[in-house]
Amino acid sequence: MASLRTPHLTAKLQGFGTTIFSEMTALAVAHDAVNLGQGAPDFDGPDWIKQAAAEAMVRGANQYCRSFGIPDLCAAIAQHQRRFYDWGVDPETEVTVTAGATEAIFATLLALLDVGDEIVFFEPYYDSYMAAAAAAGARPRTVPLEGPKAPLDVEALRRAITPKTRALLLNTPHNPLGKVFSRDELAAVAEVCREYDLVAITDEVYEHLTFGPPHVPLATLPGMAERTITISSAGKTFSLTGWKIGWAIAPPALSRAVRTAHQFITFCNGTPLQHGIAKALAADDDYFAAFVAGYRKRRDVLCGALADLDMDVLEPDGTYFVCADIRPLGFDDGYAFCRRLPAEVGVAAIPCAAFYEHPERGRHLVRFGFCKRDATLDEGIARLRENLPKMKP
Ligand code: PMP
Ligand code: GLN
Repeated sequence: MASLRTPHLTAKLQGFGTTIFSEMTALAVAHDAVNLGQGAPDFDGPDWIKQAAAEAMVRGANQYCRSFGIPDLCAAIAQHQRRFYDWGVDPETEVTVTAGATEAIFATLLALLDVGDEIVFFEPYYDSYMAAAAAAGARPRTVPLEGPKAPLDVEALRRAITPKTRALLLNTPHNPLGKVFSRDELAAVAEVCREYDLVAITDEVYEHLTFGPPHVPLATLPGMAERTITISSAGKTFSLTGWKIGWAIAPPALSRAVRTAHQFITFCNGTPLQHGIAKALAADDDYFAAFVAGYRKRRDVLCGALADLDMDVLEPDGTYFVCADIRPLGFDDGYAFCRRLPAEVGVAAIPCAAFYEHPERGRHLVRFGFCKRDATLDEGIARLRENLPKMKP
C-alpha cells in the first residue's frame, strides 16, 4: 500500500496504490529479471483448449452472452463439481460466470456487505479482499495464520466475530502460504459459520494444485451448501490466467444477489473464451494428474534450492507459491529485499508483507512462484545461487 494520498481517489480506496504484483513485474521487466513474483505461468495451457475458443470465435460466438454465463460453461462447472467433489449443483440457478475470481470476489462482497458490516478473513490474504471490502464500505477483521503446516486457531477466529459480522472469507489452498485447510479445520470453520449465521465465501482458485492433503470445498460439509459462495477460476488450472474466466457457485438466493452485482460490473465476459473453458473443464484425468505432477516437481526443485541458499522454507501443501524466511540471510525486511532483488540478483519475488493488515507480521517473508518452465526456474535458481551471496544486507 502506498502511503501518499492519491488525488481524485475516494477516501474508501485511499492507500491501495499500485498492487505489489504490478510493482514487482515492472521491476522485473526493467531489469530483465526472471519473474518469480507475480503468479502468471510463462507457458500456455493446452492447444486443444485454445482451439476450442478459437473455433467459437470463428464460428461467430462473439457477442454478449447470457449475463450469468453460457449454458455450456454453467453445465460444465456443475459437472466438474459432481466429478471431483460428488456435489450436485444446478447450472441454471446456482452458477454465475465472472471475469475471473477477482470479479467474483468483488461482486460477492458488493452484493452481501452493507456499509459498516464486518467480514472476517485470514491474514495473510490475497490482496483484492481488502480492496473489495473497502469498496463495499465494510470493515475487515483479520485472523492470523502462522504457516502452511500451523493449525487454524479457532479461538482467534471466534474472537474476531462481532454482532456486525456478516460473512467469512476463506482461501484454500491458500495464497501466499500454501496452506491446504484440513477437513477438521473446515469443520471447525463450518461450525462457527452456522453458530453465528455467517455466509461463507471461499476462494478455491488453486483447487487442483495440492501436493498431499486433498482439497475439500467448504460447501460440501454438512449444512454448508446453503450458506456458502464457492469461488474459483480457470486461470491456474488451465494455465490461462489472461482469459479471466471465473465463477461463483451458491444456492439460488445467494446467486441472485451475486448476479445482481455482477450484471453492473461486467454484465458478462469473454463469450468465446467461455466456450473454451466449457471444454477444458471436461479434461481427462491424465491432464489433471500431469498438471499436479509437474508442479510437485517444480515445488521440490525451488524449495530445495531456496533451502540450499540458507533461507527457512515454508514448504507449501498447495498453490504454486512458496514463502521463505530471509532472516538467515541477514535480511529482515522483505520489501527492501524484493526491491533490490531484480537489479542485484536478476530475479523478482513478492514481499509477503503486502498480504498483511499488520505488515510487521510478514516482514521477514518473501514469496517465490514456481509457475514457470523448467528452464526459467533453472535460470532463476542459477542467478540466485550466483548473485544472492553478493547482495549484502
Ligand atoms: N484468489 C487468489 C487466491 C489468487 O491467487 C488469485 C490470482 N492468482 C485470484 C483470486 C484471482 O484470480 P483470477 O485471475 O481468476 O481473477
Ligand atoms: N494472483 C496472482 C498472484 O498472487 C496475481 C494476480 C494479479 O496480478 N492480480 O501472484
